[in-house]
Amino acid sequence: MAASPAFGTMGARVIRAGLAAKEFSAREIAESSLARIDVANKDLHAFLETTEQLALEQAAKVDAAVAAGELDACGPLAGVPVAFKDNMNLEGTHTTCSSKMLENYVSPFTATCVARTIEAGGIPLGKLNMDEFAFGSSTETSAFGPTKNPWDLSRVPGGSSGGSAAAVAAGLATVTLGSDTGGSIRQPGSFCGTVAVKPTYGVVSRYGVVAFGSSLDQVGPFTRSVEDAALAMNAIAGRDVLDCTSQNVDTDFTANLAEGVRGMRIGVVPAFMEAQGLTPEVKAKVEEAAEHLRALGAELVEVDLPNAQAAMSAYYVLGPCEAFSNLARFDSVRYGYCDPGHKDLGSQYEASRAAGFGPETRRRVMLGSYLLSAGVYDKYYYPAQQVRTLITQDYARAYEQVDCILAPVSPRTSFRFGEVSDPTDMYLSDMFTISINIAGNGGMSLPVGLGADTHLPVGVQLISPAFKDENMLRAAAALETVYGPAPIAPAYADGKAGE
Ligand code: GLN
Repeated sequence: MAASPAFGTMGARVIRAGLAAKEFSAREIAESSLARIDVANKDLHAFLETTEQLALEQAAKVDAAVAAGELDACGPLAGVPVAFKDNMNLEGTHTTCSSKMLENYVSPFTATCVARTIEAGGIPLGKLNMDEFAFGSSTETSAFGPTKNPWDLSRVPGGSSGGSAAAVAAGLATVTLGSDTGGSIRQPGSFCGTVAVKPTYGVVSRYGVVAFGSSLDQVGPFTRSVEDAALAMNAIAGRDVLDCTSQNVDTDFTANLAEGVRGMRIGVVPAFMEAQGLTPEVKAKVEEAAEHLRALGAELVEVDLPNAQAAMSAYYVLGPCEAFSNLARFDSVRYGYCDPGHKDLGSQYEASRAAGFGPETRRRVMLGSYLLSAGVYDKYYYPAQQVRTLITQDYARAYEQVDCILAPVSPRTSFRFGEVSDPTDMYLSDMFTISINIAGNGGMSLPVGLGADTHLPVGVQLISPAFKDENMLRAAAALETVYGPAPIAPAYADGKAGE
């Protein structure tokens, strides 16, 4: 690698200070980040597309601001290398959702979360690999091949936002955005050892993000520090007239990071800690984090979420139903791959959807179509909605007693490619994350070092009441004083690019 520093390994504050002191330019950041991606991506396959021109254009704007002495007027992500999950539209780029269906789709517009990241000064480096349409927990369902875990290339990065997690863990970008419907930000964050935040539903606009489950999807950042996550939240959060589910947010997410946890009440859920499938090394890490929180002055309180064990069942009814409806637009006419040579529309639909969608996507579509069919939806869809209400009430009751909850993220650390081949086994990856999407509150993964048995990254989950995302960030910042910010995966540290 050239001698220039690996900017993707720097935090937003360091980048800003370097720009202000004219130690480097935004152009240098863009060029050297892209060069590093070029090398590292050969093995990692985190990026599906890089956006050289956009990066250089944006760098020129930031450099002009620095030259005019107006860096202060640039947003919280000035000069920060950023990248986006490939289900987020960015005008002029491919937005494939890692599906053959959208292989040739070029975005005619930009998602609000992407636009806000760029408006905040971020330098857009490209689009990131994912499970097809965000169905999965390993990025193995990408039609373009999986992303690898920078900690061990024989292992998955998690999913569905695997590219977003791997890019940050390898120091290819400082901030990436992912989306989380049942765990797709937090679980890859845990597998790759990054900070990974799924905000409360409604905090971030979903406009321009290809929908999986519209009542569950939420966009959030991957970073290596809690502060960078809070800065990214400041950039992307808030009402957007183009998404009627987005809310006014006037929180400065960095405001309480230094407050510590003294006086905070933090919930632990005994049923989660006893759950079947939770590996001893992950359990030990959650217990260790709890002890640190106690030592830092928090009060630990046991809370009960009696209906949380039904979250998985409810999710695999509601999620596929919403996905089935959302994916109806990929019909080879309005959007998507068109299988050539059909005389009637019916056979064109059938052939195009059969060829354009991979196996997991077809499974979700078939499941959703069955669950919503006459005589069936009242047996499954209604009860699933009732379960949703019960789980939401469980959390509301718990939050009468506590300010946030500490839990595992994933029951295990990263697994090898092909190791989890049964779909229902794969679904269990999200056993601790799904109930949060069902209830709609905020959840995040914070890296707490390596597991004692597998020596792979482990994250703990902090869960906030709805629209109190600052609570989990505050507790995470306190824990970060013990564990330190997320490290770069060793093969990519010190400027190495995995060569
Ligand atoms: N792994 C879960 C699924 O496959 C969640 C995915 C997500 O959050 N997008 O549906």
